[in-house]
Amino acid sequence: MQENPELNKENINRFLCENCGGNMVFDPKKGKLACHYCGFTKEIENSGAAIEERDFFAYLRPENQRLQKMATDAMQVSCDSCGATVVFVPPTTAKSCDFCGGKIVAQPKAADPLLAPESVLPFAVSERDALSQLNAWTSSRWFAPSQLKTMAQADKASSVYLPFWTFDTDASTDYTGERGDDYEVRETYYENGEERERSRTETDWSHRSGNVFRHFDDTAVPATTSVLPAYIDRLNWDFGELKPYEPAYLSGHLAQTYQVSLEEGFERFKQIAQNVIVGDINRDIGGDRQRIHNMHTNYSNITFKHLLVPVYAGAYRFNGKVYQIIVNGKTGEVYGERPYSWLKIGCLVTVILIVLIVVIALISATR
Ligand SMILES: [Zn+2]
Ligand SMILES: [Zn+2]
Repeated sequence: MQENPELNKENINRFLCENCGGNMVFDPKKGKLACHYCGFTKEIENSGAAIEERDFFAYLRPENQRLQKMATDAMQVSCDSCGATVVFVPPTTAKSCDFCGGKIVAQPKAADPLLAPESVLPFAVSERDALSQLNAWTSSRWFAPSQLKTMAQADKASSVYLPFWTFDTDASTDYTGERGDDYEVRETYYENGEERERSRTETDWSHRSGNVFRHFDDTAVPATTSVLPAYIDRLNWDFGELKPYEPAYLSGHLAQTYQVSLEEGFERFKQIAQNVIVGDINRDIGGDRQRIHNMHTNYSNITFKHLLVPVYAGAYRFNGKVYQIIVNGKTGEVYGERPYSWLKIGCLVTVILIVLIVVIALISATR
């Protein structure tokens, strides 16, 4: 049998237990590397300094030395159905896609170098607790198909770090617009030949122009497109608890590689920023109403961070549609959509009908 040279022993010695030689994984409960064979644990040493913000323009066209693997022995595999790529450290592997439920047939290959994360929000919820949260969630869904119930079993959901960008920048915006000040006018009118009075609101518009300044700090932009936007928006993260990224955090877990590039991420950031700036301009204009004719924002001192956040993700297909379930790996909150099984509802309706027919038959028989 041909051995995969990338999977040979020399390459997979990164997180071996000093005590027994078993594989150590990042344990969410203990917050450190743990050996499941002998119970030995080890703190993750922070090799670098504090989490650094990186200069945006310096990384826009990253030279090769800026690209790294998430871990020296990292492997990656891509899903043919949805295109998601996940990175992991052997012996962890990915057999099915946690985002679309598709089977992964491709062989893992050595991970491509990328803009490596410099910070991570480590898992705090163990797989066992995530599964019991999932179980509580799925068993409270009536008439759900059996596929949903089996989601709360091991292997149906994986621990995956999702990629995010965060941006810091100074935004200075010149604008022109109009300020509207309302005033009341009294007017007389006739009703049934009688003179009456009423008041009406009019607006006095005047030209305005000016500049607003805002500093954006750690504005997060998802770098994944595999998780439903409705879930991504509801997942809450406390970026104050970020740790400097160390490959050891990857041990025993998957990490999705970013699907939104740094450049595209900043474009998405600008859309988020624009809404905030429009609010600033409206406040600056003042008055009762505001109109903005032109605005031009100059972004300076742009820095970014690439970070990973923890989720348990799983997906299954039902009637040709993909259903995703996400558990926040930090808080244990479950986000999911559930289908109704018309088969189960149909069965129940049939049972009720049969019972009714029997009861009616019994009642008429006793008359
Ligand atoms: Zn051990
Ligand atoms: Zn997929």
